[in-house]
Amino acid sequence: MARYTGAVCKLCRREGKKLFLKGDRCYTGKCAIERRSYAPGQHGQNRKKTSEYGLQLRAKQTAKRYYGIQEGQFHKYFLMAERRQGVSGENLLRICESRLDNVVYLLGWASSRAEARQLTIHAHYLVNGKKVDIPSYLLKEGDVVSIKAKSLDSDKIKAVLEANASRPVPTWLDKDAENNSAKITRMPEREEIGVPVEEHLIIEFYSK
Ligand code: SF4
Repeated sequence: MARYTGAVCKLCRREGKKLFLKGDRCYTGKCAIERRSYAPGQHGQNRKKTSEYGLQLRAKQTAKRYYGIQEGQFHKYFLMAERRQGVSGENLLRICESRLDNVVYLLGWASSRAEARQLTIHAHYLVNGKKVDIPSYLLKEGDVVSIKAKSLDSDKIKAVLEANASRPVPTWLDKDAENNSAKITRMPEREEIGVPVEEHLIIEFYSK
């Protein structure tokens, strides 16, 4: 399925939640969901009850949109999560969190996950010293992510680093701001994952 290229704020309004898809704007009063907190479209203000299936579908869509993952890949993550030990819903979110584009965003090396994806494709980041230009690359404990030395001369990278320098970084990522690198010290606990969903609903959706 093709990647969504429409107005991303509509996705937040559709889910009724802030998904932080637009970088800095999401933290200002210009955020569309703060001004119009109802679903987009002619009947957006009239939608009321949601069925159990509807809740499960919305949870799945929310997580996919939050991370910018397409259906096929997300379903593969569900299957991976089921095979792992532990709670499948938490496993699923941990897999999403460990994507290279997500980690780049969390480290403040991009203003949004969409930008992180683009900068990753443009090969600005290294994993354990080697170029990785695959946004969906899954990082594991002990991996070290860094910004390519040559990329530090790029105006775009300089601007992004400056704009996001004060953004808090989750404690499972050991960021070395001076050397523009970070180590994955462990996988995140559920309470350290910001996606606004009840993950068991996603598992129920795919388990039917
Ligand atoms: Fe738009 Fe960001 Fe607000 Fe979502 S959170 S509606 S992407 S400004």
